[in-house]
Formats: sequence, C-alpha cells, structure tokens
Amino acid sequence: MEIKKNDVIDLEITGYTAEGNGVGRYKDIAIFVPLAAAGDRLRVKILKTAKTYAFGRIDKIVTASKDRVPLDCAQFTQCGGCVYRHIGYQAELKAKQQRLRDAIERIGGFREVEINPIVGAKDPDHYRNKTQLPIGRGSGNEVRMGFFASHSHRIIQCSECLLQPDEFTVAMGAFQEWAHQSGEDVYDEETGKGRLRHLYLRRAGATGEVMVCVVVNGNGVHYEPELAEMLKKSVPGLKSVIINVNREQTNVVLGKKCRTVWGSDYITDTLCGLNFHISPMSFYQVNRDQAERLYTLAGEYAGLTGKETILDLYCGTGTIGLSMAKNAAQVIGVEIIEQAVEDAKKNADLNGITNAEFLCADAAKAASMLKNRGTRPDVVVLDPPRKGCDPSLIDTVTQMAPQRVVYVSCDPATLARDLKLFAQKGYEPKTITPVDMFPRTGHVETCVLLSHKNS
Ligand code: SAH
Repeated sequence: MEIKKNDVIDLEITGYTAEGNGVGRYKDIAIFVPLAAAGDRLRVKILKTAKTYAFGRIDKIVTASKDRVPLDCAQFTQCGGCVYRHIGYQAELKAKQQRLRDAIERIGGFREVEINPIVGAKDPDHYRNKTQLPIGRGSGNEVRMGFFASHSHRIIQCSECLLQPDEFTVAMGAFQEWAHQSGEDVYDEETGKGRLRHLYLRRAGATGEVMVCVVVNGNGVHYEPELAEMLKKSVPGLKSVIINVNREQTNVVLGKKCRTVWGSDYITDTLCGLNFHISPMSFYQVNRDQAERLYTLAGEYAGLTGKETILDLYCGTGTIGLSMAKNAAQVIGVEIIEQAVEDAKKNADLNGITNAEFLCADAAKAASMLKNRGTRPDVVVLDPPRKGCDPSLIDTVTQMAPQRVVYVSCDPATLARDLKLFAQKGYEPKTITPVDMFPRTGHVETCVLLSHKNS
C-alpha cells in the first residue's frame, strides 16, 4: 500500500458507497471519505488503511462539487438517519441510480438491460410516518427525547427532524411539556427503574390521522387525561393516545400490551384505494406516498387481466397482493411472521377482499409445498428482506413457470445476484425501475419485471 495513516493526499471524489460516503481513487486504492460529494476536489487526511482501500476525512475542500447544498440540519451525521443532506436531491437520485446500475452490471453481469430513471419523491423530506424516540434526562435533569449518540446510550435532544411531518414536532413538544409538568420519572436502562421509555408516533399520510403512543415501564403514567388534553389541543389530526406497557429490561421498544387512553385503538390510512388500520404493533410502509408508487408499478408489471393466480411471497401485512386482488382471480400470500399474517387477513376483511388467502410459513418451503400440490401461479411477486431470496426458492419459482415474476428489492446487490440466478433458469429482466422509498438515506428500492426468454 502506497499510503499510510496520517498521510494527507489530494483526491477527487467520483462517486458514493452504499453508505453514502464519497469515494475517490488514489493510485488504484479506493479512498472512502464521509460527507464528501461527487465532484469535490479535496485535501484528505488518511485515518485508516486496509489492503485495497482506506478511510479518510476532509482536511480541506479545494474545489466544492456543484452538487453541494448548505446543511439544513444540526443533527446531520450524528443521529444515523440521513446520509445525503450535503448534496441536492437530484444528485442523490443520480447516486442511487448509479449504485443500482453498478450492481446490475458488475454483480448481475447484465450489460445490455435498460434501467428506467429512478422514481423520486415529490417531497424528499417529511415522509417518515413513524418515529420512536427514547426518553431520558440531560445533565440539568431536564427530560430529553431524541436519539442515542453513536456508540452510547446518551440521549441527544432532538426537537425537530426534517424527515418527519410537522405534526410529530408538535407532538414531541407537547409531550415534553407534559413530562416536565407531571414530574414523571424517566426510565433508566441500567437500573430498570423509572417509567417513561419511548415516545412512539405514527401518522396516516392520506387521512392525516395521528397516533401518540407512550411506552412505559408500568401500567400507566400519572396525569393521563392531562396528557391527552395537551396533545388534543396542539396536535392536528390526533386520533389516538395509547399507553404501551413494556416492563422488560430489553432494547426492544414495544411491550405486548396496549391500552387506549383517548380516542381510537388504531389510525386508518388509505393506500392504492384500500383501507389499512394501523395499530402500534402493525407493520406499515414508512413512506406511504412512495409505497403507493411502488405498488402501482408492481401492479403494472403484473399485467393482470382478472384471470390470474398471484403468489405474493414475503407478503408482510399483505399490502402488495391485496392491492392487486381486484384485478386477479386469486391471491396467495406467504409471510413468516405470524402477527403480520394476522394483520394481512384483517386487511383483506376490512376491504371486503374474499379472493386472498395468507399462509404463515417460510417462503421457500411454502413455494415448494404449493408447487407439489399443483399450484401454478401466473404471477409471482417477491419482496424479500435485504438478504434476498433463497436459491432453492428461485428454483421452485422458475419450475412453477409463471408468466411473470415481479421482484421488489430493497438491496441492489442481492437483487443483482438473484437476477443472475433467475437468468440461468431462463427468466430475464424485462424492465427495471428504482423507486426512492427513503430519500436522504442510502437505501435503494427497485421493482423488476422478469419473464421467460421464450415466452
Ligand atoms: N411485501 C411487504 C413486506 C416486505 S418486507 C410490503 O410491501 O409491505 C419483507 C417481509 O419478508 C417481512 O415481512 C419479513 O417478515 C418477511 N420474511 C423474512 N424472511 C422470510 C421468509 N424466510 N419467509 C417468508 N417471509 C419472510
């Protein structure tokens, strides 16, 4: 290696890593530099070296990239949420498009396939419809709420987050005021004593309904009616105030028991024309508007005529399959988490959908069982977690010979790997479209239509 720790080098940043760090090349060594922007010319101090790469930090910006924008958040880089606040949204979208292209070409080996332009968000901020804030005390014994400082459980006060809707900022302020006035003690992780653990907020993007849930070490808190009153007065759209009981000494945020202090047990949102009840426990997509775009795209790729059997693997609470059910003959959803399967069934009932069934099972095992029973889906939807699909699942799916496979991915690298396996079985990617589900973060979501090369 031609560089060592503490060296200072000139570096041009040419791209980004998956984590959003800037990357440049110095004598064939990749140098990763946090907070750098593609197009920057920098003086970089080397902090750490490995065989083929090194980490550095910006010593001086010699020429700033034209993509740079002024920082608008004091917590940026501390809270672990955003990685792209130092560059404009168009530059971020370009970086995400490039990351997908690199994966598809280098890992997947597809050089010819076209990738559609990424579907960006109308508002790259304010989209998070859910947040969980740990509660603690600061040095002056004041109640603090926000996020843990990195590598510690010290809470950094955060009164506003640009990724959140304004209603959350207002709810945080009202809650903090109540916590101060009520004198309620806060939870201490070390001793397991104290009551207030987390403030957990959810908002239904389409209806504007807001849920405030307080996670407590105990059955409740003092002055609950006063808390509800303060929230009602200040939080637009408030529909539900809930106490969640968590007496376990654990990092898991939610306990198993919920009690409604005021209003409804759930809030209601609409997505792709369907209603969904969101309770504290239920899974729901974090960015509703972009989820709707993604599901609409998945629906188009499914090419439904009303006659199809759809197999929705890794279905979660059933949202993708349910959004397609009215245009298909039958939907079979498979999901490994029991609670999610229960929610999927409830969601079907809520929307009067009678042609969808849900199985609680491992996707690979369920697919194999269904195949052996003679199920021949016309469309298979796959939406696996980041690690992608099990190779045996890809085998089974291709053996079932569906006309179309719609692959929804949250990780370009495992997507590309899986597309290669599909191609070996004759299924080729026809259309690839990234959708920016999590603006300002490094995540890249992609929707792919595959079909058999002979079909
Ligand atoms: N399609 C859903 C959820 C996708 S997230 C939506 O759009 O909302 C991926 C889902 O896969 C999670 O719900 C997770 O619980 C589930 N999962 C993870 N491993 C699984 C497996 N081996 N078999 C079936 N489901 C699995």
